[in-house]
Amino acid sequence: MRLILMGPPGAGKGTQATFVAQHFGIPAISTGDIFRANVGQGTPLGLEAQTFMDAGEYVPDEVTNKMVRNRIAESDATEGFLLDGYPRTTAQVAELDQMVEATGHQIDAAVVLTVNEEELVQRLLQRAQTDGRADDTEDVIRHRQTVYAEQTEPLIGVYRERGLLVEVDGMGDVDDVTARIFAALNDLPRS
Ligand code: ADP
Repeated sequence: MRLILMGPPGAGKGTQATFVAQHFGIPAISTGDIFRANVGQGTPLGLEAQTFMDAGEYVPDEVTNKMVRNRIAESDATEGFLLDGYPRTTAQVAELDQMVEATGHQIDAAVVLTVNEEELVQRLLQRAQTDGRADDTEDVIRHRQTVYAEQTEPLIGVYRERGLLVEVDGMGDVDDVTARIFAALNDLPRS
């Protein structure tokens, strides 16, 4: 199973990624988590990524692509993976296509969680109080929504055209959203 999990900041990708990945016995690969771990450890990658992240901008494609390429090549990802937060740009889509094709496999589905914008901002402001993430201030949160709308939302159309898009309502209880994702994925034609 090779899955992509998409959706705007605050849509609940990280939360759902854990459940879905566990269910299919594949690793959840979150680019945001990997970047944050590197920032925390002060690695060269972390130093490179931090200014972009703090400003709510995307880390440059070359940096992100290389990181994902290396992660996907690890042994736990040979049977599949769930990508949380990647791809986010058209250049990343092209790169991912190459990575997957090179292994003779294909992406099975791109799940997109839809949540209205006010709910997204409220969730992130709430998270700011509990987690204290540097990019969860109101200004940066709103900027991240804009960057998502400009750079990532168009990818939904790309995966829709490929017949891979699975749209899931991300509003409401975490458990309900998880149930909707499983229902939608089980509906997928198996190849
Ligand atoms: P959010 O859901 O708010 O976007 P993430 O934890 O997924 O939070 O990502 C945090 C930050 O990490 C992003 O704002 C961006 O700076 C960086 N990042 C994560 N994934 C990517 C990606 N695919 N391309 C570029 N930058 C990324």
